[in-house]
Amino acid sequence: MLTFDRFSVHYGAGVHAIEDVSFTVQPGSICAIIGGNGAGKTTLMRAVSGTLGFHGGRVHSGEVRLNDTRIDRLSAHRIVQHGLALVPEGRHVFSELTITENLEAGAASVRSSKLRQERLQQAFEMFEVLGRRRDQRASLLSGGEQQMLAIARGMMSGPEILLLDEPSLGIAPRVVQHIGHTIQRINEGGTTVVLVEQNAAMALGIADQGLVIERGAISMQGPAAELRESDEIHRMYLGGSAVEEADSADTAQPTLERWQA
Ligand code: ATP
Repeated sequence: MLTFDRFSVHYGAGVHAIEDVSFTVQPGSICAIIGGNGAGKTTLMRAVSGTLGFHGGRVHSGEVRLNDTRIDRLSAHRIVQHGLALVPEGRHVFSELTITENLEAGAASVRSSKLRQERLQQAFEMFEVLGRRRDQRASLLSGGEQQMLAIARGMMSGPEILLLDEPSLGIAPRVVQHIGHTIQRINEGGTTVVLVEQNAAMALGIADQGLVIERGAISMQGPAAELRESDEIHRMYLGGSAVEEADSADTAQPTLERWQA
């Protein structure tokens, strides 16, 4: 279980990127974190992957726990060992390395060579295109295929929780749908997924729970199915009105919580 407890992150003296954020990601679930530009989504991902310091950020108060371990002050390497893997925004595949070499890089924390081989085979089975092109350089893959490679590489450490930072960014709509299905399959295999997205339709379409971040604070959270029906979410992130679409102003939203940002 991943828990954020009254968590705040600052950059330098003046930027309060995350303020007093609390939420829990249930084991085995998909949690979607949606929000616009500069809302604080990537900062949350940096904080749970041990990379905040590389960007001049620091934990101001509160904590993040993975099961019983406090992780917000651990190094990136230790966090991977605790079962958390981040697929960063922008993919960052090693373009001059082959697909196989990229995947092997994701398994650097795995001591057993047998296990590394097994994971490689699993990646090739799940992502057929990577198997077919395993000896080609990653630079030859399309943007969508590189995103698949980045996700597959994230899975190579065998994480309990996979964090995905905007996997649909710059990807064609048809491929975004494919990425959504892939995330669902990964989750069905038992991996908990935290999915940070501006693409609310995709993220809330596959998530169990969702939360909205605005200006560093949680403004809404609840079951993803209910957020999908929320008129506010439609207006802000889906370009329409749920009420108009349902032709009714009485769309029930029994458990959504709304905070003042
Ligand atoms: P986007 O979707 O545009 O990537 P985001 O929701 O991921 O946005 P963050 O990148 O986490 O948002 O940024 C949150 C706030 O922190 C913004 O005001 C941003 O300008 C600021 N910020 C992010 N990185 C740094 C940094 N390295 N130094 C100073 N301020 C930063």
